[in-house]
Amino acid sequence: MRCPLLVLPAVLLIALGALACGGGAGPPAAGDSAEADSAPAEPESADLNDPVAQRVEPFQIFDNLFYVGIEWVSCYLLVTTDGLILIDALYGDHIDTAIDGIRSLGYDPADLKYVLVTHGHFDHVGGAARFQETYGARVGMTAADWELAETPPDNPDWEIDVPVHDMVIADGDTLELGDTELRFYVTPGHTEGVLSMEFPVREAGEEHRAFLFGGVGLNFEGVHRTNLYLDSVARIQRLAAEEGNPIDVNLSNHASMGRIFERAEQLASRAEGDPHPFVDPEGYVSWLAELQRNAEEKLVVERELAGE
Ligand SMILES: [Zn+2]
Repeated sequence: MRCPLLVLPAVLLIALGALACGGGAGPPAAGDSAEADSAPAEPESADLNDPVAQRVEPFQIFDNLFYVGIEWVSCYLLVTTDGLILIDALYGDHIDTAIDGIRSLGYDPADLKYVLVTHGHFDHVGGAARFQETYGARVGMTAADWELAETPPDNPDWEIDVPVHDMVIADGDTLELGDTELRFYVTPGHTEGVLSMEFPVREAGEEHRAFLFGGVGLNFEGVHRTNLYLDSVARIQRLAAEEGNPIDVNLSNHASMGRIFERAEQLASRAEGDPHPFVDPEGYVSWLAELQRNAEEKLVVERELAGE
């Protein structure tokens, strides 16, 4: 098991959700998960901020996509013909893990053109200011989550260096860099301004449609937000079901929520001619159905709490 905190059972996640995210820019470290089919585990959080305990060797997923994140939070490097894009920015000492990873893969962090942040919680946005200041990367987030990131958190552990207010990304926006175009969707629920995105990934001349749902965790409160989350999942389900254009690659911003490491192990031991383990359109549809079920369970609890 890679990170016991991220595989809490759904019931406990719902309880955490009821306790967490009262305001400010950060969640409890332990609550950012929505994986229901994993074994329960003891909630320990001591090693989440430890760069040694959390270190993951960077790895390649597709010709143009690499993982440079840590055990409990993802960070992806998207390589284009005109520079690099980082998706999420980690936080604290983990920022160095991402920078080291980029270098060890043979890329220069000075070629980072954009840092795209899935939402304004510290574990995703914490490193953005450093990439902006040090490498001149432009930082993009939704309007709502710029506001979240710029609001001092309730818990001092979640404090971050706030990046200079830069690109505001709206629903339907696209971003073109070299040979790559990303398309953005605002999919609220986990936060008010969760940013999801899709982009092409390639291997051996074949292109696949990768999608990253930027806010999977159910650690938030309220009937309204839960309904927003359900609407967001329903929207992604419609995108995934587009005729002739299925979403076939699931990238998640917490590795444990999208079987990232499990698939990476399969990829590392793949035999010649075997299918790419990250290309799994049917798996994506069932994953979304699981998110929907979890959120529907949460909605029942939230309605009871609200006296509805
Ligand atoms: Zn979060």
